[in-house]
Amino acid sequence: MVPSRAHTAPMNDTTDTGGRDFIRQIIADDLASGRHARVVTRFPPEPNGYLHVGHAKSICLNFGVAAEFGGRCYLRLDDTNPVKEEQEYVDAIVEGVRWLGHDWDDRLTHASDYFQQLHDCAVRLIRDGKAYVDSLSADEIREYRGTLTAPGRDSPWRKRSVDENLELFERMRRGDFPDGAHVLRAKIDMASPNINLRDPTLYRIRKAAHQRTGTAWCIYPMYDFAHTVSDAIEGITHSLCTLEFEDHRPLYEWILDQLDFPARPRQYEFSRLNLAYTITSKRKLAELIERGLVGGWDDPRMPTLFGMRRRGYPPAALRDFASRVGVTRKEHLIGMDVLESCVRDELNRTAPRAMAVLDPLKVVLTNYPAGSTETLPAARHPDDASLGSRDLPFGRELWIERDDFMEDPPKKYFRLRPAGEVRLRNAYIIRCEDVVRDSTGRVVELRCSFDPETRSGTGAQADRKVKGTIHWVAAHAACRAEVRLYDRLFSVERPDADADGRDFKSFLNPASLDTRRDCQLEPGLAALPPGTAVQFERLGYFVADRVDTRPDRPVFNRIVTLRDTWARAGNTGG
Ligand code: ATP
Ligand code: MG
Repeated sequence: MVPSRAHTAPMNDTTDTGGRDFIRQIIADDLASGRHARVVTRFPPEPNGYLHVGHAKSICLNFGVAAEFGGRCYLRLDDTNPVKEEQEYVDAIVEGVRWLGHDWDDRLTHASDYFQQLHDCAVRLIRDGKAYVDSLSADEIREYRGTLTAPGRDSPWRKRSVDENLELFERMRRGDFPDGAHVLRAKIDMASPNINLRDPTLYRIRKAAHQRTGTAWCIYPMYDFAHTVSDAIEGITHSLCTLEFEDHRPLYEWILDQLDFPARPRQYEFSRLNLAYTITSKRKLAELIERGLVGGWDDPRMPTLFGMRRRGYPPAALRDFASRVGVTRKEHLIGMDVLESCVRDELNRTAPRAMAVLDPLKVVLTNYPAGSTETLPAARHPDDASLGSRDLPFGRELWIERDDFMEDPPKKYFRLRPAGEVRLRNAYIIRCEDVVRDSTGRVVELRCSFDPETRSGTGAQADRKVKGTIHWVAAHAACRAEVRLYDRLFSVERPDADADGRDFKSFLNPASLDTRRDCQLEPGLAALPPGTAVQFERLGYFVADRVDTRPDRPVFNRIVTLRDTWARAGNTGG
């Protein structure tokens, strides 16, 4: 059951578990009963793409419970398919998990670390009559497997002797056969109602070089086998995975039953994270890149860890998001607003304030002495004095936001209008005396007067109230910058639902990127190190783009709007 509307509230279903999700409750019980002395978990990504926000949930769960219960968590690369995997992805996964703030000490492992042990386990199964070499083609295997309603049929090779199986498997390993000539299968039950138990393939021939083991192997273990044995080798106590693996659990148990590892891991499933207005499928994300529809895995619109990092999402916000979303077995579609509110909460605390004008309109203060300038102190953060203050240059010519002026404004418009007054944030009250237009009638400049008695924080009239406050930047000191405004990548809540048979790519939001090249920033922002987040007052949170920004040509990404403040921008303006 999939609700069609995105949820906006936290979904952590902890009603009957004393505030813990069901997995933490199981772990707490297992520790209390002495079933385990110490919890051991793992996060097992396949290095065939970059990690996404769904993986962040799994990472925070696995590393989170290990930390909370004084246990350990392995970061294990599930690198069993050399045809689809690359070192680039391995490196990106490692960097992404570290960026999220998790630490694995010496527990960075690879399924390929265990290729010899996996092979030995396979030989053991053959010896015990629990596995056989099958010589059917892939198509025949599919045909013999049966369907959800019809049982499968035994392969004619199922009765091969142990000796023949041992010899054939050894020759598979030596490279005597081409890809697809034989596979090794578990001998379980071709009539099982669970298709995963109909003699699943354990090993296949792949004459491909592996990014770590080179050409040492030409047979590679299948996911279910490699994953289960790796869990047992590492002594995983709670093997946490998403619900699509529920039907694989009997196979997981079967494999463990045949092999006598000292550890007995148990598998528990939870529901995947589905985030509205985006997709969490490596394959579909890769397709967007291959077709040039986004800039790459780190495009700030991508729900990948690298995309979110470049977008400026703080890792602490993602950890907070994972905990707000919670862990259940219910299918949910989480609203983007949940993620964005985590980002806002974190940045509101940590991001220094600054001023930037995205659509500049020139203001000339006619009574400000020509040629002179001054600096005005301004706090970097309204609630955190430890961030200190900065000196804002001020002068006769300023930039303000074009939409902070209206010639014929509606009621309740408290910004600038002809003959109207407004306060410049951290500075003076100004009054619009005259409007200058070009030959097409477009407003190109406002001639204003300023009231020197109203400088913020000083003098008798400093606190004179006017209804609107707007942001500004002094023209003589401003730095010109490119600012990229991002919107949702897709224009529908569930782009991957293939609604009406439409391809997910047809739901891309054509307005997901709006590039502004002539923005004007307060001068201190030019030197901001790449990746640093700030609040542009009244506009949102922005980050110096970690790839493209340069001191002589700053590039900023909008991380998220200040939605709540934005709604009130007309009368408070910050
Ligand atoms: P994709 O469908 O994007 O290819 P995957 O499940 O194939 O993802 P893996 O690298 O196998 O990717 O995933 C590693 C771990 O992350 C698995 O344990 C998987 O259950 C978990 N995971 C993947 N996607 C999600 C998601 N959307 N929500 C929560 N956990 C997820
Ligand atoms: Mg997978």
